[in-house]
Amino acid sequence: MSEKFQAVVIGGGPGGYVCAIRLAQLGLKTACIESRGSLGGTCLNVGCIPSKSLLNLSEEFHKVKNLSNKGIEVGEVKLNLPKMMKSKEKAVTILTKGVEFLLKKNKVTYYRGTGSFKSKKEILIKDKNNKETIIQTEKVIIATGSVPVSLPNIEIDEKLIVSSTGALNLEKVPKKMVVVGGGYIGLEMGSVWSRLGSEVHVVEFLDHITPGMDKEISKEFMKILNKQGINFHLQHKVENVTKSNSGVIVSTSNKEGNKINFECEVVLISVGRKPNTDGLNLEKIGIELDNKKRIKTNESFKTNLDDIYAIGDVIAGPMLAHKAEDEGMAVAENIAGQSGHVNYNTIPGVIYTTPEVASIGKTEEQLKEKNIKYKIGKFSFMANSRAKAIDEAEGFVKILADEKTDKVLGAHLIGPHAGELIAEIGIAMEFGASSEDIARTCHAHPTFSEAVKEAALSVDKRAIHS
Ligand code: FAD
Ligand code: NAD
Repeated sequence: MSEKFQAVVIGGGPGGYVCAIRLAQLGLKTACIESRGSLGGTCLNVGCIPSKSLLNLSEEFHKVKNLSNKGIEVGEVKLNLPKMMKSKEKAVTILTKGVEFLLKKNKVTYYRGTGSFKSKKEILIKDKNNKETIIQTEKVIIATGSVPVSLPNIEIDEKLIVSSTGALNLEKVPKKMVVVGGGYIGLEMGSVWSRLGSEVHVVEFLDHITPGMDKEISKEFMKILNKQGINFHLQHKVENVTKSNSGVIVSTSNKEGNKINFECEVVLISVGRKPNTDGLNLEKIGIELDNKKRIKTNESFKTNLDDIYAIGDVIAGPMLAHKAEDEGMAVAENIAGQSGHVNYNTIPGVIYTTPEVASIGKTEEQLKEKNIKYKIGKFSFMANSRAKAIDEAEGFVKILADEKTDKVLGAHLIGPHAGELIAEIGIAMEFGASSEDIARTCHAHPTFSEAVKEAALSVDKRAIHS
């Protein structure tokens, strides 16, 4: 007799494991199936966590090397890359084991193996030794995430031609690295290897980096990264990547149609990710996909079939861990008869470079496009005492508020701890706050958050420190 569950979650990433825990908290007998051998998905294993670990470690290395500028003399600073990688792996192991503990604590049954639909209510699990188990369920939640995409005819070998996964595991610092795509992964991983000593060239198809981000922030971001030593080649289309005796040749053509080749030791292909539905047997049960091969869902995360749901990177929306988590919570609550909900207007996006970049709500371009009249408040970290005191004063805070009602519509930050500061604006937006509400809230001195308050004051042209 196969075991019977009330809910089965396929995929143990931030969407899947959070959903499984919430379902169990709400009293459903729940199983979670994960194929990679450890929980936490892309995020904990080959995404958010290892990249943030390397961003931090490479920034520390870079800072220590430059401490003498601040009157702190240190001896010779040397990089021990294998040890740095071990430190990163330690962080990953602690966190993935932590998720396993959480599933156990919440009495979620964890199956190690690949799940696929045998029928709408039966899931077949194949483990690494090809042993098969069939379980039965009332509800299924698909949370199988996403995988990197490559370009036509370019095969990723994770050694010379790498995706983010290979870029997180290089055995030595490449003398020269070409990054294809100036998005989240390209700029974070490009920053890591640049700080560790690589000559980094970002080749971007568009005329700006970080598409979708507020243009003013995007321009400032590129200027700052450029000053740090990262080279940008905008409006360059990558046509081919070939291996040579000394490394790799990246062939591009620029907007004038000139052919430009870049020779490098390693090329990182970071041109986006695609939903992962391979092997689930979706065709057999008739689940509909959209034109980008994402699973189609309604606002309750239900697919075209009753009792089958999908969340996270495998459905539409930004491919972010916290978006997947919130959808996991919401779908679990819906299944349990509650009113789960995700507010897509207040999902923050953060790029963990130095300085950090953070964004929430509408950009100026989106407001113009929708013909919404707005006011802008801006404040530079150059005038923020904490940022000045520690010599991290690059960047600014920009708040967009409705021209009539003063309601905060969006905020875009580049500067120290921007990824933490954005949470304040998220809460303000969830509460329907005006920029005046933020401006009238007492912020501790000296903190970076005072720049948020000053930007809010500046919406009505009454900033004090500028
Ligand atoms: P995933 O995390 O992809 O998890 C899906 C899981 O399902 C995987 O573990 C997979 O093995 C498993 N699976 C797939 N098919 C099956 C099957 N048939 N049976 C069983 N298991 C299966 N986002 C952020 O918010 N912040 C960041 O800082 C950030 N940094 C990133 C850095 C990098 C380098 C990358 C690549 C991504 C980063 N992301 C970040 C994006 C984030 O990792 C994803 O948005 C998030 O992991 C999506 O969660 P998910 O649960 O939908 O899918
Ligand atoms: P991305 O969508 O962020 O950026 C891809 C970039 O590649 C774009 O700028 C695009 O214009 C460019 N591009 C596309 N085709 C090209 C070509 N042929 N030649 C040159 N440039 C080309 O994708 P990504 O950086 O691969 O990251 C994937 C996703 O992972 C992100 O969208 C994000 O959701 C997630 N992620 C998030 C974080 C974070 O939250 N800090 C970090 C890493 C990844």
